[in-house]
Amino acid sequence: MKNVPRPYTLVAELTHRCPLSCLHCSNPRALVPKWREISTDDWLRVLDEAEALGVVQVHFSGGEPLLRLDLEALVARARALSLYVNLVTSGIPLERARLEKLVRAGLDHVQLSLQSAHHARTSTPSFPKRRRSTRRVSERRSTAPGSRAP
Ligand code: SF4
Repeated sequence: MKNVPRPYTLVAELTHRCPLSCLHCSNPRALVPKWREISTDDWLRVLDEAEALGVVQVHFSGGEPLLRLDLEALVARARALSLYVNLVTSGIPLERARLEKLVRAGLDHVQLSLQSAHHARTSTPSFPKRRRSTRRVSERRSTAPGSRAP
């Protein structure tokens, strides 16, 4: 193990579920159904083990990671381990109250996916919702002086 390079990043694909059906998506949404997803306790263990291996940042992704109701708990554990915490999201389910909870739990950064502003590229008219989410993240950032928040 001495010459094995340490990992710096954990990309945690929390779920394959997603409210969208983007044409370009390579996410196998039916591969792992909700009832077979990795449990909260197992993800908490994975975070502990990742930090012990040398990981310094975690990217919570999917599918749509906001569909995991335990996301705040996972963010909080990552923060407690001093990991830099990024959320990779379409922004569709990102309501203001949820964003506040995630920031309070320790979220550092939000990566909003905006692959296309044109509705024809997705199966739902998602762009207005994504734009609202972008505004929420932007407003949250501007009201948090000195914060590491998004
Ligand atoms: S938002 Fe992402 S995961 Fe969901 S369908 Fe689109 S590309 Fe796939």
